[in-house]
Amino acid sequence: MSFYTYIEQYHEFDFIKFFSGVTDEAIFRSLAKDTLSSTDFLTLLSPRASEHLEIMAHKAHRLTVQHFGRTIQLFIPLYLSNQCTNQCAYCGFNRNNSIIRNTLSLAQIEEEAVAIAATGMRHVLFLTGESPQHTPISYLTAAAEILKRHFASVSIEIFPLDKADYHLLQQAGVDGMTIFQETYDEQIYRRVHLAGPKMDYRFRLDAPQRGASAGLRAVNIGALLGLSEPRREIFLTGLHGRYLEFTCLDTEVSISLPRFNEAEGNFQPEYRVDNPSFIQFMSALRLFLPRAGITISTRENARFRDRLLYLGATRFSAASSTCVGGYSGSTAQQSQQFEITDNRSVEEVVAAIIANGYQPVFKDWDMIT
Ligand code: SF4
Repeated sequence: MSFYTYIEQYHEFDFIKFFSGVTDEAIFRSLAKDTLSSTDFLTLLSPRASEHLEIMAHKAHRLTVQHFGRTIQLFIPLYLSNQCTNQCAYCGFNRNNSIIRNTLSLAQIEEEAVAIAATGMRHVLFLTGESPQHTPISYLTAAAEILKRHFASVSIEIFPLDKADYHLLQQAGVDGMTIFQETYDEQIYRRVHLAGPKMDYRFRLDAPQRGASAGLRAVNIGALLGLSEPRREIFLTGLHGRYLEFTCLDTEVSISLPRFNEAEGNFQPEYRVDNPSFIQFMSALRLFLPRAGITISTRENARFRDRLLYLGATRFSAASSTCVGGYSGSTAQQSQQFEITDNRSVEEVVAAIIANGYQPVFKDWDMIT
């Protein structure tokens, strides 16, 4: 079974026609339900529903507190390598960009781990580009084993793997994965992934399901907002999340809403998502998927991230660097994958979470061995 067969029905779906037929009555009916159908979800994503944002946001807040309490789980990203064989038009690590390329040695990973652990962070997400020559599975498992000695939770944001390789990483201590489809629109996907193995849309689409079936306890998905029509993207992201909740019963599903940010290469996205639309999308996702985590990264600025605490966010990255290494000071300054707009330290993020009446959570998980 694949999510692809499930979303095929939407290939010809006329989203514009659907949105133009949405009425206030339909919006209120959807808002009154405890369990939303896919039609309700799409109704709440309509431009017309943006006129009822306050009611949506209020319900999103109530559901989040009900399912997660007033807590925000914190994690920190660690880039191991910016070597990449892909040519993603929107990415600073695109193989055609002339940047300094680097892959951390195992000794450097240890140094980075020590430096990060000293900040108090207990959940780490490690990232790479896609270059099996520089970051083969043996390197990734060795990296996971090192990081597992320093952190309660180690998760990955790397290229899609087959189930056997996900299982090897799980055995090495990885417990979660993030993988963004970037865009669910196959035509645009082809247009922005110009060369390299990432051109395989379906192999990427099925990766979260493979990871979950290999034993990873948490999967985080998302679309890069800006590449394609955003209401459609959020709709299909939500359907993907629900599909994973139903097919991978032991797996925690969460959603990210990465909004396009500047990177090397001067890619100009076709769509821009403003703050009210972002809040609408996030609220609609919370109503459709009440138990799903929602991750907000440092792509968003400090003030806006603090507002999102009330609206359904459950997970923040903090003190992030999108350069390779970047924490211990042992690696040379590198190009960033994208620009960060919340540059606060761990202490500052923690202080802001507490000042807003929420509790920062450094560790909510430990593997029993
Ligand atoms: S998005 Fe990932 S796969 Fe694409 S160029 Fe950047 S690092 Fe490589």
